[in-house]
Amino acid sequence: MKDIPSIFGCMTFNDSVMRKRLPKDTYKALSKTIAEGTHLELDVANVVANSMKDWAVEKGATHYTHWFQPMTGVTAEKHDSFISPSGDGKIIMEFSGTELVRGEPDASSFPSGGLRATFEARGYTAWDPTSYAFIKEDTLYIPTVFCSYGGEILDKKTPLLRSMEVLDKQALRILRLFGNTTAKRVITTVGPEQEYFLIDKEIYLKRLDLLFCGRTLFGAKPPKGQELDDHYFGSIKPRVAAFMKELEEELWKFGILAKTKHNEVAPAQHELAPIFSTTNLSADQNQLTMDLMKSVANKHGLACLLHEKPFAGVNGSGKHNNWSMSTDTGHNLLEPGDTPYENAQFLLFLVATIKAVDDYQDLLRLSAASAGNDHRLGANEAPPAIISIFLGEELDGVLAAIDTDSDYIGKQKVHMEIGATVLPHIPKDSTDRNRTSPFAFTGNKFEFRMLGSSFSISCPNTILNTIVAEVLCQFADELEQSTNFKEDLAKLIRRTIHNHKRIIFNGNNYSDEWVQEAARRGLLNLKSTVEALPTYTLEKNINVFEKHKVYTSAEIHSRCEILLEGYVKTINIEALTMIDMIKKEIIPAIIEYQNDLSQLLTRKQVCGTFENTLEEKLLAKISTLSTELFTKLEELENNTVKSQDLHGDTLALAKFFKEAVFEKMTELRVVVDELESLVGRKYWKLPTYSDILYSV
Ligand code: ADP
Ligand code: MG
Repeated sequence: MKDIPSIFGCMTFNDSVMRKRLPKDTYKALSKTIAEGTHLELDVANVVANSMKDWAVEKGATHYTHWFQPMTGVTAEKHDSFISPSGDGKIIMEFSGTELVRGEPDASSFPSGGLRATFEARGYTAWDPTSYAFIKEDTLYIPTVFCSYGGEILDKKTPLLRSMEVLDKQALRILRLFGNTTAKRVITTVGPEQEYFLIDKEIYLKRLDLLFCGRTLFGAKPPKGQELDDHYFGSIKPRVAAFMKELEEELWKFGILAKTKHNEVAPAQHELAPIFSTTNLSADQNQLTMDLMKSVANKHGLACLLHEKPFAGVNGSGKHNNWSMSTDTGHNLLEPGDTPYENAQFLLFLVATIKAVDDYQDLLRLSAASAGNDHRLGANEAPPAIISIFLGEELDGVLAAIDTDSDYIGKQKVHMEIGATVLPHIPKDSTDRNRTSPFAFTGNKFEFRMLGSSFSISCPNTILNTIVAEVLCQFADELEQSTNFKEDLAKLIRRTIHNHKRIIFNGNNYSDEWVQEAARRGLLNLKSTVEALPTYTLEKNINVFEKHKVYTSAEIHSRCEILLEGYVKTINIEALTMIDMIKKEIIPAIIEYQNDLSQLLTRKQVCGTFENTLEEKLLAKISTLSTELFTKLEELENNTVKSQDLHGDTLALAKFFKEAVFEKMTELRVVVDELESLVGRKYWKLPTYSDILYSV
């Protein structure tokens, strides 16, 4: 049994290490920078750098890297060693404050969506002291932000940090109105639940689609899928258990609070949930978690799939973004309180979130848009593409009572007078938990369930923080002018409920009735990525980001462009992989089988007439399907070539890829899957769904 408390965080340069190793005044200065975002003087940075280096070298590190989160969705790093010549043919290990604080990676190979002029390829990384440095594989990792020389942001972390500051500022204004003078900061917290698949590495390597696209492009339905519901929370197989154990230990070493692990609904699907932390730490840690999942899986002869939909016919993988706001004194602002005053404050933060989600449905929707997630959202499994909020029966009843100025009839009858009545007790884990809602209130936090499993949580949280901050800003503007706070507060809460209750829905979000009902309510239904992404640049959306200085208009346009490009590239790679696999693996298998069948048929015909035999019928069926396969294959190939004419207009290109490439791939897949079900096993060399899903 390992001593977990002693290994926890042992690879991070965390607060207790800093306290122990830094001179007192340096520690104080750094703590102030971390807590308040103040500038760190170079002489202080020099002391920190030296101490970090000594600590890292003692732990076997030889290199350091500025670790950042470009728009690729994965993290980037460039390693430099600590060595420095000492003049006598020897070296010393050195690391300066300048090297800690700033790096200069060549920015030209990272997506900028047209922001960075080609003649200005330089970019720089700047240390983010709010996230602890850590050691991984003999390298000291320094979390950083990434910008161009002109100051345009090129990463996902900078806007996230900005959005947290904006929310802090606006939420504090509200707290002050409620007479709270002690809270110094409001932080947003996130606990991301991470789903993933684990399959055998050998089998993974035999499928080009898994290797290149992270998902299977073909695969006939196996005889057994998830219909028996026997995998969810089922007992964990020894190989998976060994993987999970090592993963947890690794995560703990990096100070990541991995807490829950279990089997998920689909065969070979699992989930890991950490205890929540401050949003930017959560974002860094989730990236690290995804990296570690892959590398630890590799060590166990497994492949970890983070794609949103690796397999058709069984559930895909998402990421649940549990989000809340809390003060530096530990008060969760989405936690209903015990006094009328606390309740009024809770209700205000609650309705602010409701209004934000309603006003900016499009932004939230696009924050979960990607080629991979298009397979889930709106496709009858994960939350639908329509944004709505689940509040649960009790809270919904409370809001309805406020809206109509009537009594709330729960366990007891209460007249909901804001600021004067205690809320009826709302159980944290309401029994009617609704798993179909995209945005569910779960007692003291909201669970945003639309994110794809491979997503960085940065963009969704940047958006969530900014839109909630905007509504809090509107509320504060109004209430700061008030001469009768209690009365105006009640009016504001009632008005907000009244104007935004259309976004609340407690029923089954997967049903067709909801789609119709949502349309009647005027809610958006942005079915796919190409419909969702263009809303990024709507005037109201640019305004909210510019007002709070989270993004400039140019930065939003560039982000939209990058996301559309990403969509196009993803589908293009999938199409090319599909074409390649059909030509090199599937057609040869079909031909070989047909060849054997026809030889047998000829032999039988020589001996007499054998019409209507198995061989003849099978051959005819396969032959028809083969022709269909080839026709569709040619169409797909032609369309991928045609797409080249559209370069320059990324939105048109993305639409073309959806309609003419992706749709064709879907049709082609149906034919291939049918062929797979007809062709003999020894001919079909690709691992089947049964092989893959039950490989561990
Ligand atoms: P589920 O039943 O959906 O698995 P859990 O109660 O296990 O939900 O919690 C899921 C996640 O929510 C965990 O990561 C947990 O740390 C996180 N969480 C709990 N409270 C908060 C909060 N105040 N802010 C953000 N995340 C939170
Ligand atoms: Mg959950």
